[in-house]
Amino acid sequence: MSELLDTEIKFLPGVGPKRAELLSEEAGIHTFRDLVSYFPYKYVDKTRFYNVSELDTDMQYVQLKGKIRRFSTEGGGTAKRLTADFYDETGMVRLVWFKGQRWVLNAYKLEKEYIIFGKPTLFSGAFNIVHPEIEEVEKKALRVSSAYEAQYSTTEKMKDHFLHSKTIAKLMATAFSQPSLRFAETLPESITGTMKLMSLSDAMFRIHFPDSNNDIENARFRLKFEELFYIQLNLLRYKGIRTRKTHGFLFSIVGDRLNSFYKNNLSFSLTGAQKRVIREIRTDLGSGKQMNRLLQGDVGSGKTMVALMSMLIGADNGYQSCLMAPTEVLAIQHFNSISHFIRGIDAGVALLTGSTKRSERARIEKGLLDGSISILIGTHALIEENVKYRNLGLVIIDEQHRFGVAQRAKLWQKSDCPPHVLVMTATPIPRTLAMTLYGDLDVSVIDEMPPGRKVIKTMTFTDAEREKVFGFMRRQIEEGRQIYVVYPLIKESESLDYKDLEDGLESMARAFPPPQYCISVVHGRMTPRDKAISMNLFRKGQAHIMVATTVIEVGVDIPNASVMVVESAERFGLSQLHQLRGRVGRGADQSFCILMTSHRLSADAAERINTLIATNDGFEIAEADLRMRGPGDLEGTQQSGMAFDLKIADLGRDGQILNLARSRAEEILANDPDLESSDNKVLKAGLKRLFGKKFTWSEIS
Ligand code: ADP
Ligand code: MG
Repeated sequence: MSELLDTEIKFLPGVGPKRAELLSEEAGIHTFRDLVSYFPYKYVDKTRFYNVSELDTDMQYVQLKGKIRRFSTEGGGTAKRLTADFYDETGMVRLVWFKGQRWVLNAYKLEKEYIIFGKPTLFSGAFNIVHPEIEEVEKKALRVSSAYEAQYSTTEKMKDHFLHSKTIAKLMATAFSQPSLRFAETLPESITGTMKLMSLSDAMFRIHFPDSNNDIENARFRLKFEELFYIQLNLLRYKGIRTRKTHGFLFSIVGDRLNSFYKNNLSFSLTGAQKRVIREIRTDLGSGKQMNRLLQGDVGSGKTMVALMSMLIGADNGYQSCLMAPTEVLAIQHFNSISHFIRGIDAGVALLTGSTKRSERARIEKGLLDGSISILIGTHALIEENVKYRNLGLVIIDEQHRFGVAQRAKLWQKSDCPPHVLVMTATPIPRTLAMTLYGDLDVSVIDEMPPGRKVIKTMTFTDAEREKVFGFMRRQIEEGRQIYVVYPLIKESESLDYKDLEDGLESMARAFPPPQYCISVVHGRMTPRDKAISMNLFRKGQAHIMVATTVIEVGVDIPNASVMVVESAERFGLSQLHQLRGRVGRGADQSFCILMTSHRLSADAAERINTLIATNDGFEIAEADLRMRGPGDLEGTQQSGMAFDLKIADLGRDGQILNLARSRAEEILANDPDLESSDNKVLKAGLKRLFGKKFTWSEIS
C-alpha cells in the first residue's frame, strides 16, 4: 500500500521543516496525501503560443517564445524599473520589472530562448508585459508539466515566503515523480466500470497536470463524484444501521386529545402541506422505529401547529414530549400560543427556561416525574442533566441550527430507547446541502402558506430618503399597524453596533416623540426580564415601534406588525434578511419590508438586496445564498459545528453529481448493507479512512 501518501510533507525534496510548517499552518498540508489533494482552483491554457504581431489589448494572458536582446534601467525612485526587449520573428514586446531587478538580471541571459507568459498591456505605443513568467525552453521540456497549467490558491503569508502557485506546482511535480507514489483505487469496479470513471490514479495526476479540457473535466468529475459518494454512503449506512437495529416508541393510536383538539380547538383548516406532513410524521411514529425527521418550512408556514399535533399524538399514547426553542423569547411565545391553542384539552403544558424560579422549577420537576406534564416547552434548560422525564417519547427542536451538535447529543442520551426526533427549521436549506448535512434524516417540507396571506412588498431606500420612510411609518401607525426597526449586530465590532443602535434609537425618538408615539427596545444586552417587558409592550399593541437588534430574528409572531425596517441592510446575509422579512406578513394586512442601505453598495450587497426584492420564496433565496456564499458560510452550518469542508465538489453547482452519488450509494447499500462483498471491501476501507475518527451527526443517535 502507498505509505508515501501518509508521509510527512517535510520529507518531500524541496520542502524541509520551515516550508513544511508554513504549508501545514496556512494550507492544511501535513502529508503527501494532503499535498496531492490540494486541488487547483483554475487552469491557464498553455497549449497555444502567440506571435508578437498578434497581440491585442483585450487578451488576458499570452504565451510567447523568443529571445531577450537588451536590458535597460529606466526612471528613478519608486518608478525605477528594469525593462527588456523581447523579440520573436514577428516583433518586439517590452518586459518590465519593478521588483527583483537584480535577480532578473542575474537569472536571464541575452540571446537564449525563453517562453514568457503574462498579460499584454499597451503603454506609450508598445506592448508591455509587467512581471512576466519566464522559463527556459530546454528546462520546460524536462519537468513534469502539462498543456494546462494548474493555479493554486495561496495566502499572503505563503506569498511572503515565496510559496506561490508556481512553487506549489513544482512541489506537485516533485511529488508525482516519486516512483513510490501510488494511488490504490477507492471505488469498486461496479461503479468505475459502469460509469466509465477515470481511475483514481489518473484523476489525481490529471487534476494537476491536464493536457486537455477533457482531462480536466474527467478528472474533476471522478474526484467530485468520489467525494460526494463517500459522504452519502456514510450517511445512508448509518441510517440503515439505525433503522435495522434500533427500536422506537410505538405511538399506535390517535386518541381523544388529538381528536377533540381537531374538532373543537382548531379555528382554521390545515393547509394541504400541513396535512401531508402530519401524515408523514404519524406513519413514522406508528412504525415502531425511531423517527428522525427534518421539517422544513418557510417562516409563517405553520410548523408550530404540526409540532403541537405531533405532541398531542404523543400524549394520547401516554408519552411526554418536549419542544426546544433557541431563545427564551421564543420559548415563551410557543408556551403562550400552545397553552392558548389547547385550552380545555387534558394535556399538562409547562415552560422551563433559564429564568424559571426555583419553586416553579420544583413543581415542574415533580410534574415531569409523575406524568402530569405531557408537554414541556423551553430552551436549553430542557436538556440539562437534572431534568428527568417519566417517559420522554418525542423531542422537537425548533430552529435547530442554533443548537450545537453536543447539545443535541445530550438528548439522545436521555433514554435507552431514544425518543422520536423532529427537527424544525425555517431556514430553508437547499436540497443539495440538506442531503449532505442531514442525508440520514427523512425530510418533510411545508411548501404552502396558510391562505389569505398577502405577498410582502419589499422596497429599498437610501439613508438620504429617511424622511420619506418616516412619513410612511407614521401613516402605517395611523392605520393601527406596528413596526419593527432592526439594527445589525455583528460580533466583531459589538460596541460599535450598539452605538449604531443607540444613535438610531435617538433619531427614531426625535421622529416619533412621546406621548403620541411609544417605542420599545429589545437588544442582547438587556436582562431577560427587561426584554420580556419590552416584548410585551409591543405584543399588547401599546408600543408602535419596536427597535431591536437581531434577537427578534427567530420566530416572533405578532400579526399586527406589518412593517419591517432593516437598517444597514447591506450588512446582513441574504438568509438573515429573509428571516427578518418573515416577521411581518402574518396578519391580514398588506405588509412591507423596507431595506435601508447606504448610498453605495458593493456588487455582492446589491445582488443580495435585488434577490430579496425579486422573490419571496425561501428556497430560491437559500439557493441564491448558497451560490453567492458557498456552503461553509451558510448560516447555520457553522454554529451547528457541522461545517465540513469539501475539497473539490461544490454544493451550489454539483447538484447533479450529488444525485448520482446518492443513488449509487443507495443501490450499493440495498444489495450489500454491510459492505461485505469482495467488490465492496474497498468502500468499507474508504469509509474507515475518511470517517473512522471523525465525529458525525449520525453517530450520536
Ligand atoms: P412557523 O413556525 O412555521 O414560522 P407558525 O406555526 O408560527 O409558523 O404559524 C404562523 C401563524 O399562522 C400562526 O399565527 C399560526 O397560528 C397560523 N397558522 C398556522 N397554520 C395555519 C393554517 N392552516 N391556516 C391559518 N393560519 C395558520
Ligand atoms: Mg416557528
